[in-house]
Amino acid sequence: MKKIMNTLMLSCHKATELIEKKTVFSLSPVEKAQLFMHTRVCDACRNYQQQSELLDKVIQKELESLEEEKLSIDQESDNQRINKLKEKLDTEKFS
Ligand SMILES: [Zn+2]
Repeated sequence: MKKIMNTLMLSCHKATELIEKKTVFSLSPVEKAQLFMHTRVCDACRNYQQQSELLDKVIQKELESLEEEKLSIDQESDNQRINKLKEKLDTEKFS
């Protein structure tokens, strides 16, 4: 049991590392449990995590709006491609 507790107890340094990692990669179940345990008992890291998640959401939103822009551009070029194909088919039909 002591060994499990040792595994679950993180230093603040390690906890912030996991919080940072979480914004880019997904954490392993053990890491998730470690971080959960740590933020339960450590106010500083809990605050840090909240700020990090907030920031993450803002960045995520920015990325999504960028992605939407990109998507609409892609769709436009798709339509152009389809139109060209139609034109080609039309000329082939009449020739
Ligand atoms: Zn901490």
